[in-house]
Amino acid sequence: MDALELRDVRKSYGQREAVHGISLTVREGEIFGLIGHNGAGKTTTLRMISTLLGITSGTISVFGHDVATESEEVRKIISYLPEDAGAYKDMTGRAYLEFMASFFASGERKDEMVGRGMELADLGERIDSKVDTYSKGMMRRLLIARAIMPSPKLAIMDEVTSGLDVINAYEVRSVIRSIASSGVTVIMSSHNMFEVDMLCDRVGMIDQGNLILLGAPDDLKKEYGVDTLEEVFVKAVKG
Ligand code: ATP
Repeated sequence: MDALELRDVRKSYGQREAVHGISLTVREGEIFGLIGHNGAGKTTTLRMISTLLGITSGTISVFGHDVATESEEVRKIISYLPEDAGAYKDMTGRAYLEFMASFFASGERKDEMVGRGMELADLGERIDSKVDTYSKGMMRRLLIARAIMPSPKLAIMDEVTSGLDVINAYEVRSVIRSIASSGVTVIMSSHNMFEVDMLCDRVGMIDQGNLILLGAPDDLKKEYGVDTLEEVFVKAVKG
């Protein structure tokens, strides 16, 4: 069974259609990257998958569950990390993870979940500092830990490395790799073609609400006779 299947998915905001019939599948255990310009429709697509935004037409299923008719089931097996996510600034990192884990579990199961979160965040003794003293990179690691500690089957991440410096972006990518190698399927959006090239097993390129390319980075580069995904994108957009 595919982890995720989109069939002819459309989304209109009022009269304006922002997503024009996207179809794609993501296989279990894969890291799948959605790439495209500002306003291409990446966030809209990720929010529909996350059950947060209604689909105008078409279907999306997550591990066989329809997001429109079985949204409760879908919410149990996904986690969504929005680009602008934040944490409660007055809490320590540990208190934040404990608070968030209490929505999912209690007793020993909750402690296990928090332990997993602390391992993923890897903040050392700073886990006991207040969140408002964290750097952007530390904050992002805490948020990823929060998203992954309940062990979702599908992790949905929007621009997870945006605004991070080289070292922090590198570390976040390492965390994503380790999440995927533990069996979690990941769908993420990014503007950074270099990052997607290094990290993703397959990518979907979106241009103005249309999926214009789909495939493994190396296959796409071979098909277009170029060395980078960026060149593939430019060639595909310019025709
Ligand atoms: P970015 O990389 O800048 O985050 P994106 O690829 O995630 O862009 P979306 O945020 O999905 O793009 O936006 C797709 C289109 O839908 C854009 O034209 C945007 O202006 C429009 N749009 C997004 N949200 C709304 C909304 N709530 N109401 C009206 N139009 C919207």
